[in-house]
Amino acid sequence: MISKRELGEFHRRLHGWFRENGRDLPWRRTRDPYAVLVSEFMLQQTTVVAVIPYYRRWMREFPDVFALAEAGEERVLKLWEGLGYYSRARNLLRAAREIVAGQGGVIPGELAGLLQLPGIGPYTASAMASFAFDRCVPVLDANIIRVVARLGNFRKPVATAHGKIELERLARSLLPATGGWLHSSALMELGALVCKPGIPDCDACPVRSFCRADSPEKIPVKPPRKAIIHERDLRIFSKTKGRVSLVPSPGPRWKGLWLLPPGTEEGKVLFELSYIVTRHKIRMTVSAGRPRSTWETFPPDNLPPMPTPHRKAVEALLDL
Ligand code: SF4
Repeated sequence: MISKRELGEFHRRLHGWFRENGRDLPWRRTRDPYAVLVSEFMLQQTTVVAVIPYYRRWMREFPDVFALAEAGEERVLKLWEGLGYYSRARNLLRAAREIVAGQGGVIPGELAGLLQLPGIGPYTASAMASFAFDRCVPVLDANIIRVVARLGNFRKPVATAHGKIELERLARSLLPATGGWLHSSALMELGALVCKPGIPDCDACPVRSFCRADSPEKIPVKPPRKAIIHERDLRIFSKTKGRVSLVPSPGPRWKGLWLLPPGTEEGKVLFELSYIVTRHKIRMTVSAGRPRSTWETFPPDNLPPMPTPHRKAVEALLDL
């Protein structure tokens, strides 16, 4: 890997490149730990482009941890609607309430304290330590894993326990003495803009002379993709006196959200949609049906939080 003697020059090039080329993202304009916490929860398994409007809306409505801690779960899920992986929203709310109730609204700066909070695992704790508290710790998101693995020509599978330990050691060997925020941001941005998945743009790479990868497109080594599971989901659309019938999700998928009621193969098919949740490919078929007394009804202009496929079905069928 990069020798101690070379490290200063490596940092100078990487960090200089980031200062010139790093994107102006809303959460990069602040070191407010609460704002960073919100962005880190939203960015888990979600792209930067998708997160930006949600982040802005969220910070307008819940500008600090106290505002979030006082919010009701339904309102929180409504603001999260469309972003997916709703357990993140519920955990963020729980974390805010614990921070306010147990720590007077102060978000801990140490990894151990961060790891006690709901929804915060080793990755989010290290991202918080780096991006909110400027600590020099390895932050291993998908972009940084790719960059570090390629720089070191790391040919072992990165998802195994052994692979993770070795990769973390490699990432640690690249850390500067100060300026954790700048270093993690720069590595992450290099992975997003230059050292991309598949074939990287090595000609544009500021640290090419330090890179040992001989076939970067084959790094990082990942486990084979798991097989897709196909599922069918039968639903009913029922509108009475202008109100739409919905039921609460039985969970755990979409806990706290509202869904079209479950249906059968009977009834005229009104709408079909396929969507993917983790490795499940789901074909949703919505048929016409009569309302039941156990279902709740809602006016179309004031629907509760719903997952995207169900909301799309309702929006497509409202004019029927
Ligand atoms: Fe990635 Fe290519 Fe730069 Fe190596 S030289 S870090 S493979 S972009």
